[in-house]
Amino acid sequence: MLGAILGDIAGSQLEFANNRKKPEVLFTEDSFTTDDTLMTVASFKAAFSRNAGGADLEEVFLRETIRAVLLHPGAGWGLSFLSWIRGIVGENGITVQNLHKKEGIRYRPNGSAGNGSAMRVSPIPYLSSSLEETKELTHRITRVTHDHPYSYKAAECVSTSIYLALEGKTREEIKKNILSYYPEVEGMTYEKLNRGYRYTELARDTVPQAMACFLESKDFEDALSMAVSIGGDADTLGAITGGPAEAFYGWTEEEARSHWGSFITRLEERPGIRWTTRSS
Ligand SMILES: [Mg+2]
Repeated sequence: MLGAILGDIAGSQLEFANNRKKPEVLFTEDSFTTDDTLMTVASFKAAFSRNAGGADLEEVFLRETIRAVLLHPGAGWGLSFLSWIRGIVGENGITVQNLHKKEGIRYRPNGSAGNGSAMRVSPIPYLSSSLEETKELTHRITRVTHDHPYSYKAAECVSTSIYLALEGKTREEIKKNILSYYPEVEGMTYEKLNRGYRYTELARDTVPQAMACFLESKDFEDALSMAVSIGGDADTLGAITGGPAEAFYGWTEEEARSHWGSFITRLEERPGIRWTTRSS
């Protein structure tokens, strides 16, 4: 999940910049976390809580989503998502102060086909003991806010690819999984995307491109460099690409600290952030 957060940070300043140049430095002092990081943490909390008894995973996820929006209204949320959440907040009389006391919050599922479904699922495979469980948890988290066939497909492609990477599968094996969701990834290259991709916030036109950047990359940072330089929704493309890139390449805690020291320290100060290193 740290990979997704780093991807979000790397793209944070490039979201609407139509950037088509690989950045010389991925993380600068002006980089920041956005809604993609907040939602990744919300997924982590929901998936982590599911065996603890009490509220079900969907309710925890909705509550954490509301909390994130109320505490960070300027984090770069999509406008329709923001008005959906504000509708729930208004109808249920929710405030930051009373949120923890509210039970059974009423809401209408959101049928969004946006790429928000895919940027937040990276913690799920780390908290699953099988591919089936990864799919089930992904479905349950997705249905709260993105109850749309394209969103289920996008989220599951990302989470299952991360699961397979954590299992030590080869790039070819992970590619086979990606192609089973999006056959069009076969013909996608960074060069073509860099030239011809057009900005969108739709999951079906964001996830295949993010996966193509991961598959073509030579290391974690290379994957992020490509994702944030195809002229798209850079922070979300970075977050989606960062998930499988982290799980596939891995890094030791020492490596991470020497590369991204000050960001890691700041991230660790946020509740819910955990190390997800693959090897040491
Ligand atoms: Mg964002």
